[in-house]
Amino acid sequence: IVNRKPIVIANWKLNGGLDLICMSLASFIGKQFDGTIAICPPYIYMRDMMAFLKFSELLIGSQNVSRFESGAYTGETSAQMLKEAGCSLCLIGHSERRAMFNESNEGCCIKVATALNHNLLPVLCIGESQAEKDAGKTSAVLSSQLTQGLANIALKGRDLCIAYEPVWAIGTGLSASPERAQHVHEIIRNELTSLFGIADAERIRIVYGGSVNKGNTAQLLQQKDIDGLLVGGASLDTEHFLAICQQA
Ligand code: PEP
Repeated sequence: IVNRKPIVIANWKLNGGLDLICMSLASFIGKQFDGTIAICPPYIYMRDMMAFLKFSELLIGSQNVSRFESGAYTGETSAQMLKEAGCSLCLIGHSERRAMFNESNEGCCIKVATALNHNLLPVLCIGESQAEKDAGKTSAVLSSQLTQGLANIALKGRDLCIAYEPVWAIGTGLSASPERAQHVHEIIRNELTSLFGIADAERIRIVYGGSVNKGNTAQLLQQKDIDGLLVGGASLDTEHFLAICQQA
C-alpha cells in the first residue's frame, strides 16, 4: 500500500491582495500539519509570499503556466520563471481556463510536459459539466481529458497530481458527496493505471475540488482514493482555510 500524504491546495484565483497575504501567512507561521499545504496566489504576489516561507511549511503554486519556454508570447509566464520564483507546483487546465480561455486537452498536455521538465508538480484539473453528468458521460469525459491531457507523458519517477473538479460543484456550494467523489476517483485511478501502470497510478495523488469547506473536509479525506483537496472560495477566509488544513 502506497502512503499518499494528503495535499491541500488553495486556489485564490483573481482575488486577494497584500492584506490577504499578510493575514494568511501570519496565521500559518509556526503551524505544523500532517499534510502538505500549498497556496496558489495571483502571479504578482508570489515573491511577496516567498519572504514568509522561511517561517512556515507552506508551498507556493501557480494557477497556470505557459506552454512556451520563452520568446514573443506577451502576457505569459514560463515554467522556468515560476521555478526561479520559488514555485513548487502549478495548476493546469482549471475549468475556468478551459471555459474562458479556450484551453484544450492538447494544450494542457504540453503544459504538463513543460512543468515536469522544470521540476514543477503539475496539477492537471479535470471534471465534467452538469450537462455531461446528466447525460451519463462523466467517465467518458474524464477518460478523454486524461488520455489527451497526458498523451505521451513519461513520468520517469516524477510526481503528478490530478485534481478532480466537477464543474457543477465549483463555486456553487454543491460539493460532490464523499461517496460519489470516491467512486469517480477510483475511475480516475483505473484510467491512470492503464496509462502509467499500477505502481505509478498508486503513487499519483488525486485531489478533490468543488465547494470544499471545513464541514465536508474530514469525510472527503477519509475516502480511500481522495488524497487531498483543491479549495477555492473557502481558501480566501484565512481561519476557514486553516480549519481545513488542520484536518488534512
Ligand atoms: C476551484 O475553483 O478550484 C474551486 C474548487 O472552487 P470552490 O472551492 O470555490 O468551489
